[in-house]
Amino acid sequence: MLRPVSSRPPFDPWLNHLRRDRRGLPVPYVNLWQREDGVAELDRVRLDHDPNVGMRAVFQDDADLPVPNFTKQNLGRQRECMTVGLCQVCARPVPWSRRNIVVSSISVEWVDVGGREVPVVFEPWLDDRCAEIATRWCPALIRRTREDNLTLIRIRSQREAQLVVSKGWVEGPFEEETRRNPVAMWAKVALLNARIERAPETAAGATAGSDHGAGR
Ligand SMILES: [Zn+2]
Repeated sequence: MLRPVSSRPPFDPWLNHLRRDRRGLPVPYVNLWQREDGVAELDRVRLDHDPNVGMRAVFQDDADLPVPNFTKQNLGRQRECMTVGLCQVCARPVPWSRRNIVVSSISVEWVDVGGREVPVVFEPWLDDRCAEIATRWCPALIRRTREDNLTLIRIRSQREAQLVVSKGWVEGPFEEETRRNPVAMWAKVALLNARIERAPETAAGATAGSDHGAGR
C-alpha cells in the first residue's frame, strides 16, 4: 500500500542555507521579515545608493527581525534578484536557460514598449527547481494560483525580458524627501514575448498605485 503523501514540505537540502521560520520551514530569500506584532517597520527604511540599479533607492533592514511576511518582499533583495539574476527563493544565480517568472493576469501591469502593450511583473525569477518546490508547497502561491489566476512562464532569453525600475516615495521620515525626489522602489521586468490574456480594465489597475509605501 502506498504511503500517503506528506502534507508538509520536504526538508529539501537545496534550501538548507535559508533562514527558517518558527515551524522550521525555509523562508524564500526575497521575503520581508517583520516584528512580532507585524507593525510596519518605518524606522527600518533606509535610503542609499543601489549599485544594482545605479540610483538612490529604498532599503529595508530586516536581518534581525523574527517573523517572515510571506506576502511581502524586501525592496533591496527584490531589486537584487531581478537585476543580478538570482532566484527569489534560494538566491542562487539562475542562468537564462532555467529562468521562470510568476505572472498574475489580474494584477499584472501593462506598459507600452515600441507601440505594443506588454505585461510587466515584479516577482523575481525562480529557477526550475525552486519553481517546482514553490508550486507544490508554498501556501500563498497555491492560494494565489487559484484566486489570482497565476501562471508560471518560462523566460529563456534576455531578449524576452526588459528591466524597468519603478520610482516612488515612502511613508514616514523620508516622505517629504522622496516625494520631492522619487527613489528606486522595485525592479520590474517587461515580458516582451509573453502571451497572456489581458484582464478586464476594472481589475487591471489593481497595482497601478503600488509604487509608494515600503513593503509589498
Ligand atoms: Zn532557487
